[in-house]
Parts: sequence; structure tokens; C-alpha cells
Amino acid sequence: MLTGRFAPSPSGRMHLGNVFSALLAWLSVRNQGGRMLLRIEDLDPDRCRPEYAETLKRDLDWLGLDWDAEQTPQSRRTEAYRAEFDKLAALGLVYPCYCSRAELHAASAPHASDGTVVYAGTCRDLTPEQRAVKTRAPAWRVRVPDERITVHDGLQGLWQEDLARDCGDFIIRRSDGVYAYQLAVVADDGAMGVTQVVRGRDLLSSPPRQILLYRLLGYPVPEFGHAPLLLASDGRRLSKRDGDLGLASLRERYTPEEIVGKLAYLAGLNPGGGPRTPEALAQGFDWDAVPRQDIRLPEGLF
Ligand code: GLU
Repeated sequence: MLTGRFAPSPSGRMHLGNVFSALLAWLSVRNQGGRMLLRIEDLDPDRCRPEYAETLKRDLDWLGLDWDAEQTPQSRRTEAYRAEFDKLAALGLVYPCYCSRAELHAASAPHASDGTVVYAGTCRDLTPEQRAVKTRAPAWRVRVPDERITVHDGLQGLWQEDLARDCGDFIIRRSDGVYAYQLAVVADDGAMGVTQVVRGRDLLSSPPRQILLYRLLGYPVPEFGHAPLLLASDGRRLSKRDGDLGLASLRERYTPEEIVGKLAYLAGLNPGGGPRTPEALAQGFDWDAVPRQDIRLPEGLF
């Protein structure tokens, strides 16, 4: 059965762009009669707060975006991540990296196209003696193969990335002991049988790394759909700081059906832009209608 998920990070109130991706994820699943899961991604103790998680759930509920089951929040899945980490370690693919942020930047040339910093492999082949004299708490990286990974994305099409050249060995556990997003998300989606991942295009650099981890950990690779981002009318990316486009403000000014109807209009799914419920849109949902490019909010729509 098609299984999708909402995977919000409780680091603030949702903004319109978050709601837009959540709506598309929900419509895609419900259109196919699939199952929707909710997972609170509260891995980062510095950024996440339990009260935001409660508000996120209330906001999704208010919008009419329901879910069939809630997964254990990431902050309580440390044991599961450790088990996945150990599997990679048993394959001989994990090593400690002692580089500071400044050393990483000094050692690597930023990747030409998007500024991603490619890890230069500084700590890849340290000897046990070299490791023994390090004093800094290490982060842990997974060795990537020198191989092109092909991504099939329902919205963004097909592309390839050479992990060794374009990314380098990447972190799966941070130096403060917190498991990294890439490992946690694959462990969770794999364990919960997620078959479709719909999320914002801001995460478009993640699929090659995640595909590698799904394969190494023995999980099937889900379908991906990276939704366009909503931009403010001046072309800026929306952020949780855009107060008037955050749900707190929107809920005071609109009904859920009005918000859903306007977002569906931007998604090419509701030509008139009038109020709609998610249920009413689910049956006619069509990925082909959804724009691939980021969407600038028309002046005065919200
Ligand atoms: N928790 C991530 C976020 O809120 C989404 C992760 C994902 O969908 O894979 O940006």
C-alpha cells in the first residue's frame, strides 16, 4: 500500500510553504487510497520544542490534513539509530572525523553549482595512532562509493550524482552524539514502510545520500516528489520568520478551506482559487498539474 508521511521539525510554527508541501503529500496519498503517517522530527534538541510539536499537530488537524498513525518522535528513537549506525560500522563504512568547522572549510573547495561543501576525506584513512592523539570529540562519517546514484523524482525528473565527487563522505552522527538527519530519516522511513516521500525542494540535495543509506541498510528506496517552494512576492524564500504568512496569523484571517483552496490554486489544482477542503481535492489530484519551478506568491493572494 502507498504509504506517505508528514515529517515536520517542531522548530517553529508552520508557514505557508510547509503547508503547501504537506497538502501535496496528503493529496498524493489520499488520491491513491494510501496511508499517511506523521513523524515529529525533533532530533535537534537546540532547535526543537515539544510545544511546537503540539501546535503543528493542531494546525494540520485544523487544515483537514489527517494521518492514520503517528510514529515515535525522532528524539525517542536513539536506540534504533544506533542499531543502523552499527550495521554500517559492521560493514567497515564508518569512521570518526575530528575536523573542526574551520578546518572543513579550509580543506574543501565549495561545489561549483550550489556551494555545497565537499568533504575532502581528511580523516578517512587516519591510523589508530593518529586517532589516539586527537582530543576533539569526533563526528562520524560514512564512506561513499565512487559511483553515480540515479534519482527518479516524480516532480523534478531524473538526475544523477556522483557521491564521491559531489558530496564526499557525509556525517551520520554529529560530534555531540546526535544522529544526523540523513541517517534518522532513512532509518525511520525504512522501518515504517514509507513508500513515498513528498517534501519541499529545499531538500533536493538529500536523495542521493539517502538512496545510498536505504541500500546499505537493506530498505527499499521510496518514490520521491520534491515540491516547489513558495516564495514571497519579492522572490525571497519564505521562512518561519515570515510572521504574516505563518499559521498563527493566517488562522486569524482565513478559514482552513480558504487557505487550502488558495494553495491548491497555486498547485494548479483549483483554477478558481475558491475555498476547498482537502477531501474535495483528493479525487482529482494530478501530479502533472503541479508546477516544477518555485512559485512566487501573487501580490494580495494572502
Ligand atoms: N524534518 C524535515 C523538515 O521539516 C523534513 C524531512 C523530510 O521530509 O525528509 O524540513
